[in-house]
Amino acid sequence: MSGPRETCDVAVIGGGPAGLAAALGARRAGAGKVLLLERDRTLGGILNQCVHDGFGLFLYKETISGPEYAERLTEDVLREPIRVATGTMVLDLSPDRVLRVNSREGYRLVEAGAVVLAMGCRERTREMIEIPGTRPAGIFTAGSAQNLVNLQNLRIGNEAVILGSGDIGLIMARRLVFEGVAVKGVFEILPWANGLERNIRQCLMDLRIPLELRSTVVEIRGRDRVESVVVAKVDESLAPVAGTESVIPCDTLLLSVGLIPENELAKKAGVVLSPLTGGAVVDETLMTSIPGIFSCGNVLHIHDVADWASFEGFAAGERAARFAAGERPAGPTIRVSAGPNVRYALPQLVTRGKPGVEWSFRVKRPVRDVAVEVKGLTSGKVYARRKFARLLPSELQKIKVRVAVEEDLEVGCP
Ligand SMILES: Cc1cc2nc3c(=O)[nH]c(=O)nc-3n(C[C@H](O)[C@H](O)[C@H](O)COP(=O)(O)OP(=O)(O)OC[C@H]3O[C@@H](n4cnc5c(N)ncnc54)[C@H](O)[C@@H]3O)c2cc1C
Repeated sequence: MSGPRETCDVAVIGGGPAGLAAALGARRAGAGKVLLLERDRTLGGILNQCVHDGFGLFLYKETISGPEYAERLTEDVLREPIRVATGTMVLDLSPDRVLRVNSREGYRLVEAGAVVLAMGCRERTREMIEIPGTRPAGIFTAGSAQNLVNLQNLRIGNEAVILGSGDIGLIMARRLVFEGVAVKGVFEILPWANGLERNIRQCLMDLRIPLELRSTVVEIRGRDRVESVVVAKVDESLAPVAGTESVIPCDTLLLSVGLIPENELAKKAGVVLSPLTGGAVVDETLMTSIPGIFSCGNVLHIHDVADWASFEGFAAGERAARFAAGERPAGPTIRVSAGPNVRYALPQLVTRGKPGVEWSFRVKRPVRDVAVEVKGLTSGKVYARRKFARLLPSELQKIKVRVAVEEDLEVGCP
């Protein structure tokens, strides 16, 4: 790569709750030159459009709105000698940690001692789930609708149907009702709702918005603007059941059908990605397969609560600072896989003999009164066991092993 060059100890890509925390974590761990790169004009990431409260319970021990959460973290960053570059898009990242960035001043190169990836995620679109029908106006992903309504003060329609019961869809169901839009229902293909239980209660039940499980949109109708959608029940294999179709008149369809970690830069650098999370494969220091490149927040795996993205950011920033100062991985790693009813467990690699490692995991389907175990794959020994009254796929959970482990492990719900 050629062009004007600058250097830093730690470069953080993305100024959302994970990236802000990573920059702080790097500074607090002693990194001299920390550079925070954000493509948007403001810091805060997706929090800026989340005007409802419910953020900050773990980090600040009180519930505040998304913008307030962003403001507090941003103020902490601005108090430190961290170089903040907003309006700056990172276009390329090489395995030797050279970033190509573009801003109003033009292209330049940044050579970083360590890099933290904190680019967040993007939403799945209509094309990705292949809904047949016409291509009229009035079809939005829930996050883009949130942006239009909350940040640009636009009215996006009069009668809406929401496909998918992820948290953003649930929050937008309530938001649209407050904006005077009639929300005809939320349709979910799975037999369970995908959002947090508090959101189902507060955003749907309190407002009497129907939630139809085992249902999906099988056709979109309308020429210039959506005029109706056809919904149908699905069978065990999630295929629509003939004869169960019904037509719902509406002018707006919101899609809340999943988030995808934004890993284009990671791919350019050759970072190994996990097919289970869509994010990087990391060790317990949150370092990816490329030495000196760390990952945290939604770009690593999708978080239900912004606080956890920030906690991961603090840890990734600290480790990046230590790498930039010359610290290197302690030695060979063991592998950690997802066992029965566990969708993924993270980190996927752990330094052999390292005690006190904590895993984040999600289950595949809801279960009650279960124990989650971390088990040795060779010896069958159970290194940690934690009981849960209830586990939901929408909730990220944690389990910790206190002792040193020398064999490959599995995190499962036997
Ligand atoms: C649309 C949407 C709505 C959400 N609503 C809620 C909610 O209501 N409540 C809740 O608890 N959680 C919500 N979440 C989850 C929430 O995103 C996470 O908890 C948390 O914000 C993740 O933080 P992050 O820093 O990893 O990502 P983000 O907040 O997405 O921040 C990533 C940042 O990286 C920047 N970036 C990306 N690529 C580049 C690049 N190449 N160069 C420079 N900068 C780059 C982006 O502009 C962005 O500012 C929502 C998520 C989405 C996608």
